[in-house]
This record gives sequence, structure tokens and C-alpha cells, in this order.
Amino acid sequence: MKTIIPFNRPYIAGKELDYIARAVNENRRISGDGPFTRKCQQWLEKTLGAEKVLLTHSCTAALEMSALLCDIGPGDEVIMPSFTFVSTANAFVLRGGTPVFVDIRKDTLNIDEELIAGAVTAKTRAIVPVHYAGTPCDMDMIMGVAREKGLRVIEDAAQGHLSTHRGRYLGTIGDLGCLSFHETKNIISGEGGALLINDPEMIDRAEMIWEKGTNRKRFFRGEVDKYTWVDIGSSYLPSDIIAAFLYAQLEMAETIIAARRRIFGLYMEGLKDLEARGVVRLPAIDAECMCNGHIMYIITRSLEERTRLTEYLQDRGIKAVFHYVPLHSSPMGQKHCRTHGDLTHTNEISNRLLRLPLYYEMTDTEVERVITAVIRGS
Ligand SMILES: *Cc1c(COP(=O)(O)O)cnc(C)c1O
Repeated sequence: MKTIIPFNRPYIAGKELDYIARAVNENRRISGDGPFTRKCQQWLEKTLGAEKVLLTHSCTAALEMSALLCDIGPGDEVIMPSFTFVSTANAFVLRGGTPVFVDIRKDTLNIDEELIAGAVTAKTRAIVPVHYAGTPCDMDMIMGVAREKGLRVIEDAAQGHLSTHRGRYLGTIGDLGCLSFHETKNIISGEGGALLINDPEMIDRAEMIWEKGTNRKRFFRGEVDKYTWVDIGSSYLPSDIIAAFLYAQLEMAETIIAARRRIFGLYMEGLKDLEARGVVRLPAIDAECMCNGHIMYIITRSLEERTRLTEYLQDRGIKAVFHYVPLHSSPMGQKHCRTHGDLTHTNEISNRLLRLPLYYEMTDTEVERVITAVIRGS
């Protein structure tokens, strides 16, 4: 009996528990904004080249902070793909905003940059590009449209750790960038995230929103003589215990991503004949980008073929999974959102996309087993 190949297996880098013990026993500082939080923020600022980073308890929280920072209110429109996770849209709906869905490209599965300008109205306030599978959107084009129309850009880089677009890290190009350290992502802390603030003018307010709408940070820096309630906000900081876990992962980030990229490469090589025969499509690789090996997916020719292949793999102990139910087709999407143009690729691809197992500790034999099964089952 062959062992099961799971879809994902969270990787533990090694020092997580040591660092948590240090937070608990030595630092005696386990609430938010403690020593490990600051270490993580500095690591991210330095490595990615972000102006300012604030750790959050999730990428969802970072997106919600972004909606607050951009003053999204009732009637304001925010352009984004429908092919994404609910939080991308939910953060703006919480403020009374209206997500406007634009179709994705069939090669990168990211928002079709060419369609964005046409979706802009007098009510548009922001664009939220989602870097699906860690594959960069064309940020030059998106920033160009945003500048021309006076819009904010919030990158949903939940899956984009350490991927680059023309040499720049994802999350550092828009006004704001949101990362996720959820257990299913490349770098993890169970639940976790970060807000990257690239517009220096937004930093002060971001710190206040992060700390329940108070000027606590300014108080501790000695900039004000008492701390008080000065803005709307919430509790978006993670405990320093979570940050301690995360710091152990960040120290290993380059290694983790290199391993994932290697596995991704084995899949691409092993499945290229299947793609050449027109049986499946593989992720598009752009020479201008460095991709972090977050997701290995294939696109089958039909929903029926995907269903059959998923079962074939399941029968052989291999767990492959589909991805998003497009948001425009969900009950909340129909109630609170609007679509611009038709969403042909979004509908098509969500029915035909299948994600294959990919995790740090996956062995070459396991990758080989999946490749063989995909070829035989297609
Ligand atoms: C995972 C994910 C999120 C949410 O991240 P959390 O940290 O779980 O809140 C948001 N957007 C995208 C595109 C994601 O993949």
C-alpha cells in the first residue's frame, strides 16, 4: 500500500518552539508589538525593501486595515478579480464599498490589466491586484492606470512572499501590500499576516488603526504626552508568541522558497509533454518575474476531465484540489458586488483548474509519483 501524498504539509523550520520559549520565559512579553514582532517587521522591511511593515493576525486583517486607510465608504468602488479568496472583497464590503469584478487573463490567472481602465467610474477609489499562485500581476501597467486616474493600489500578495516583478518584491509596489502567513502559505505562523505600507504618508495613521485607533505608538516614542483615542481602528496585532514562531520561519524563508521552486520546476519539466499534446495547460512563466513556487496547478480541458482526474489521483492516494468558487457567483457577491464585462476566463478556469501537492518536504519520488499519475489519468 502506497503512502498518501497530502495536498499540503505545513513545514516547521526548527526554531519555532525555542523562540516561543524565549518570548514566554525570557522576554516575558507576549502581547502585540513586542521584541519578536519588531524583529519580524524589520526583517520584512529590510529583505523586501518596504517602507514600513506592521504584523497583523491575518492577511484578512491587513486588507481590512487597507480599506480603512483608503477611507473606503458606502458607494465607493474597488476593482479586483472575482477569481480570489473572499477576504479580498469582504474587507471593502465591511466598509460599505462595492467590489467591481474584472475578468482574469488565461495565462497568469491574474486580473486582466488591459480591462482595468474601462472599469473605472467616478466612484472608483482603488484597484486590488491579486498575485495568484505567487505569479506577479503586471504592476507597471496597474500603477500607470492608478496614477492616471488618481486611484490607490492595494496588492493582495497573500500568496506572493518573495516573488518579484522586474526585480521588486510583491507587496512593495502598490501604496499598500498584504501578506498572509496562514498555514497553507509558503511562510507560516498558523494564522498571521502583514501590512506593507509603501506610501510614507500613510504610516502614522496605519499605526493608529493597528492599535485600536489610539496614538499609543506615538506616546511610546515620546511624540505626545498622553495616549488617547484619535481614529477608528481595531486590534490587528498578533501576540508576540505568533511573531516568535514566524521569526523562525522568516530566517529560513529563502531556503523554503528555493525548495518549493525546485519542486515546481520538476512538475513543469515532467508535465511539459502533456501540455505539448494539448491535454492540459501549465502555469505561464514570465522571464521578467521570479515566482515563489506557491501553487502548482494544471488546467484540464473540461470540468468532466478535472473531476475524473481528481478521482483517479484520489484512488492512488494523491490529494489534488480545485480552487476558488468565483466571488461574483456567490450569494454575497451577487448582493454586494458588480461585474464589469463578461467573466469568461474566470468561469472557465475555476471549473478546470486543479492544484497538485506541493510542500517543502515533498521528495522527488513523491513528485514523480504525482507526475506519473497525472499523465496516466489524463
Ligand atoms: C490566503 C489568502 C487570503 C487570506 O489570508 P489569511 O491570512 O488567511 O487572512 C487573502 N487573499 C488571498 C489571495 C489568499 O490566498
